[in-house]
Amino acid sequence: MSETQMRARAVVDLAALRENVRALRARAPRAELMAVVKADAYGHGAVPCGRAAREAGATWLGTATPQEALALRAAGDRGRLMCWLWAPGDPWREAIEADIDVSVSGLWALREAEAAAVAAGRVARVQLKIDTGLGRNGCQPADWPDLVAAARAAEQRGALKVTGLWSHFACADEPGHPSIQAQLAVFRDSVGHAEARGLDPEVRHMANSPATLTLPESHFDLVRPGIAVYGVSPSAEIGVPGDFGLRPVMTLSASLVSVKRVPGGHGVSYGHKYVTPGETTLALVPLGYADGIPRAASGTGPVLISGKPRTVAGRVAMDQFVVDLGGDDAAVGDEVVLFGPGDRGEPTAEDWARATNTLGYEVVTRISARVPRVYVGESDATGGAA
Ligand SMILES: *Cc1c(COP(=O)(O)O)cnc(C)c1O
Repeated sequence: MSETQMRARAVVDLAALRENVRALRARAPRAELMAVVKADAYGHGAVPCGRAAREAGATWLGTATPQEALALRAAGDRGRLMCWLWAPGDPWREAIEADIDVSVSGLWALREAEAAAVAAGRVARVQLKIDTGLGRNGCQPADWPDLVAAARAAEQRGALKVTGLWSHFACADEPGHPSIQAQLAVFRDSVGHAEARGLDPEVRHMANSPATLTLPESHFDLVRPGIAVYGVSPSAEIGVPGDFGLRPVMTLSASLVSVKRVPGGHGVSYGHKYVTPGETTLALVPLGYADGIPRAASGTGPVLISGKPRTVAGRVAMDQFVVDLGGDDAAVGDEVVLFGPGDRGEPTAEDWARATNTLGYEVVTRISARVPRVYVGESDATGGAA
């Protein structure tokens, strides 16, 4: 099936992804790079994106859940791989047997990791997470000495090796926010304490995309960009992707499935929130909130049809939305571009984020499995020029 025979498609440009990884590595030249591929690589496809990121020099991949990490191993990934969002009863033993670095924020998790390592007859690779101020996962500074002591004791029993000490920023997407320096100070103290108690980690790391792009002092041994790998900006304050030589990886488009003339005064879509101001042409786009198009785009979502910017008319439904072509003609099968790099005048993920009061992160990540992913630029030889 060729692309244009599909109802809709999310084209994922792996050549752009590789270039983004190279651009990020150039920003953090002394650190290793972990490409974060959680949530199916922010909707782009974890396996192909993980492979492309490794080709461009990402020595680590990161996921949230152990299931995501194990899926990468099942698909053949063999490099350093870390996951950090654990629930009791999760597959610790499978992860340890698959050589995945597991993250621990508290004593319950350290115990589960040690028990699984003993059962597997393996030395678990464990990274200790410090809550330096985000207030989410991570060990509170007050509890840190106990966690460090317990981890050191488990190391001495031969059950595990502490491979990393790490934390996560709350406000790195707001450069200059006072919490940034406060978190860095807590991190340095916590690392110093752990090292003084005998832990000897391979990697110390804190930097997400905004910190990788704007805060060199946060790079330590490893940076962990996610959204920037996909060429989407973390925030308006950080800037647009092009400011950093990043290129959007995903282009979401569809084929018009109906084009028809209607009289003025015609209600459009559920609730008749849009009524045609005069005789006009309505085009039907076969994408809706089941595909991940936010219902909040009703009346606001920007698209490009035949080189002209248009806006979603009326409500986004589960499977479709309508665009008023203002009397212009179009044909069934014509392409409608929702977002992409912007080169052809199409909106970007950042434009959709503004129009729907969210972040570029959510715009790309929510595109559902019903939209086929089409991979281009698989290798530099065939796709590098695309
Ligand atoms: C998602 C995530 C990242 C990547 O964040 P971006 O803002 O997308 O770069 C890094 N580290 C952790 C712990 C995360 O959960």
